Amino acid sequence: MIPEDHPRYRSLAARERLADAAREGIVALEGLTAHGRGEAFDYLIGERTTESALLAARTAAALLTTAHCPVISVNGNTAALAAGEIADLQKASGALVEVNLFHRTETRIHRITALLEEHGVNVLAGRAERLVPLSHDRALCLPDGIGSADVVLVPLEDGDRCAALRAMGKQVITIDINPLSRTARTATLTIVDELTRALPNITTACAGLDSAAAADLIGSLDNTYLLRAAITEIQKRLEHALD
Ligand code: ATP
Repeated sequence: MIPEDHPRYRSLAARERLADAAREGIVALEGLTAHGRGEAFDYLIGERTTESALLAARTAAALLTTAHCPVISVNGNTAALAAGEIADLQKASGALVEVNLFHRTETRIHRITALLEEHGVNVLAGRAERLVPLSHDRALCLPDGIGSADVVLVPLEDGDRCAALRAMGKQVITIDINPLSRTARTATLTIVDELTRALPNITTACAGLDSAAAADLIGSLDNTYLLRAAITEIQKRLEHALD
């Protein structure tokens, strides 16, 4: 048990949740190291949502709510950390939810689907086909899900797959606390924030957007500006780290 007054309670609780999920076969062992990289960047950014990340979350809400076929792609880490938040975002945005894994096995797909359903997510079912221009099983996705999507939210994605989805003509929104990653630089829109802080911000924004505000946000989308703003936040914190 982690005491709730521990100064790093949130971070320790997330680690415990991921470790449990790894033991249950939901999170891949590689997912634990990816989380560690994310924690390091969250430390650098001050473990808070910056103004530019909030703008990115509102723009993500605009893209999702105006899409013809919005899809949220969920992997093991996302399911373990934020199944409830994915359920809330699905309700607010009307997006389909597809389980899509880098380390893909049918057993993991079933376990992650069951976890999401326990939290109220309506998970898309079907037979995956090799539609994404990538080698091996990373090409697999559902024809009625990611295969048909015009806008895909892929939290915690890897750079290759993000680029492949862009090459298919899709608008890709990612949540990645590392503004330097290939994913962050390849996506249409990057929310540089921690997953469990970012998802509720998108959900809240979905409820408050009218079509004029959504069009304004989409029209002024500039991912390079958002990444630069995040890097500037990190620089400022490092300059004053020992003040
Ligand atoms: P790329 O291929 O895009 O350069 P990578 O090799 O770092 O990135 P992964 O190892 O798949 O890709 O990691 C996924 C990304 O998710 C990492 O950039 C990591 O910083 C980020 N990340 C991990 N956990 C979280 C989290 N909880 N919230 C936000 N971002 C996270």
